[in-house]
Amino acid sequence: MLQAADGESRRKPRNKHGALLYGLLHCSRCSKPMAHTSTQRDGRQYRYYVCRSKDCIRACVNATAFEASVVEQMESVAPRSLRGDVPRRIAALVDRVLYDGQENEVSIQMRASKERRRG
Ligand SMILES: [Zn+2]
Repeated sequence: MLQAADGESRRKPRNKHGALLYGLLHCSRCSKPMAHTSTQRDGRQYRYYVCRSKDCIRACVNATAFEASVVEQMESVAPRSLRGDVPRRIAALVDRVLYDGQENEVSIQMRASKERRRG
């Protein structure tokens, strides 16, 4: 049996759930990194980012929807010349993402491109 490879072989995401913002997403209340977790219900997988800090409000946000909105915001500011798949672009452009679980507000901090210009 032959199985044709569809173009390039797909690389696996770094973490097992493919959490796009893992390591980037921080809770804006306590500024600690938010953990990624997933749960199964009715045969479907639901992913979340949660703040696990004891002294915090324990923000929890649906990962799928949250990632989509971050990607959308990034697309609107990212230079179009920068191609590549989304995880790579996120890694290249985004320094960190802050989530305020109380106000339900997201702020994306882009990497500063310091080397662009000199004098
Ligand atoms: Zn927190």
